[in-house]
Amino acid sequence: MDYQAFFEDKIGALRTEGRYRVFADLERKAGAFPRARFHDADGKVREITVWCSNDYMGMGQNQMVIDAMHEALDRCGAGAGGTRNISGTNHYHVLLEQELADLHQTESALLLGSGWMANMTALSTVCALVPDCLVVSDAKNHNSMIEGIRHSKAEKRIFKHNDVADLDAILGQYPKDRAKLVAFESVYSMDGNISPIKEILDVCEKHNAMSFLDEVHAVGMYGHRGGGVAERDGQMHRVTIIQGTLAKAFGVVGGYIAGTAALCDFVRSYGAGFIFSSSLPPAVAAGARASIAFLKEHNELRERHQERAATLKRRLTEAGIPVLPSVSHIVPVFVGDPVLCKQASDMLMAEHDIYVQPINYPTVDRGTERLRFTPTPLHTDADMDHLLAAIKDVWSRLGLKQAA
Ligand SMILES: *Cc1c(COP(=O)(O)O)cnc(C)c1O
Repeated sequence: MDYQAFFEDKIGALRTEGRYRVFADLERKAGAFPRARFHDADGKVREITVWCSNDYMGMGQNQMVIDAMHEALDRCGAGAGGTRNISGTNHYHVLLEQELADLHQTESALLLGSGWMANMTALSTVCALVPDCLVVSDAKNHNSMIEGIRHSKAEKRIFKHNDVADLDAILGQYPKDRAKLVAFESVYSMDGNISPIKEILDVCEKHNAMSFLDEVHAVGMYGHRGGGVAERDGQMHRVTIIQGTLAKAFGVVGGYIAGTAALCDFVRSYGAGFIFSSSLPPAVAAGARASIAFLKEHNELRERHQERAATLKRRLTEAGIPVLPSVSHIVPVFVGDPVLCKQASDMLMAEHDIYVQPINYPTVDRGTERLRFTPTPLHTDADMDHLLAAIKDVWSRLGLKQAA
């Protein structure tokens, strides 16, 4: 077999479909977010404005976070030096896990290499080892949850997205004493909708099921202390396993779960993705801890964040741009075609110095391709003026769909 030809064919297929991924080569500028330097294909460099960062609160450039990372780097050096079990537990990891347990008001928390690893490891471990566990998973769950469930080889059922009645009906088909886990998210990041956490937890309790809630797009941003939508809704104490990331609103990197001491100790003791992977650098743990502590105390940033998102949605809608019905900080704009979506993104970058990545299949369904804007507390009115003018220009020149 000609292996190289095979690889090239597979890539060619993506190009034909218009969904070959090109990464924007950026240099983020601390102190100037959402500005960044963009290195284009010709090697030229210019300043652009980022409109699609998951550094939702701009914490990646927060001075307290940077200072905490510098201090830990100077004290402890670059890497952690091992897995958690073999010399890689640094005091900053211990402090961060305490901070996370406090954030979610749980007995315990467990740090993993990323949010993806946290979902993969926790779900694959729990669902594989709890005897005859049935997993019921929301239809729009993130890839990391799907992979974790699949890896567990547990029996899996899918419930319709955010549909509590469908979830109830599925769970009702199984004996009450059968072990069950319901996996779902709070904020779904491509549509920006939010799940009915209380109602889902009611159904979980009715059927004696564990609940697994991915709050990746909510921690730091919802709830009075940034504990997520479950905190905002007064439901945090009812969730069996809360999962989150340190890489989005907290602006650093890493993932975690929070829950009872027994649950966290169980994943710590049996989870392959925890046991066999080296721990995060101490400076990363120190920065994440400083970021969480900062956001706990700064609810006004969350208010400003929501105001910025609401303002952008309103202004786009007034301009006839088709904003999908998001109830969160995420502002998805419908295009509905992969090639046009990429063209719109390219024109915004090339002609208006605006960076928004096209979102195509498999991240979203075919025919629902979109531009996904994530305004942060640091995007100004002037940034929005500039964006609105640019997007109106691109929409009319490409003949893109207007709002109904
Ligand atoms: C980004 C994301 C993850 C993975 O988190 P990382 O820390 O980036 O690995 C998990 N779940 C959802 C819903 C996500 O969007």
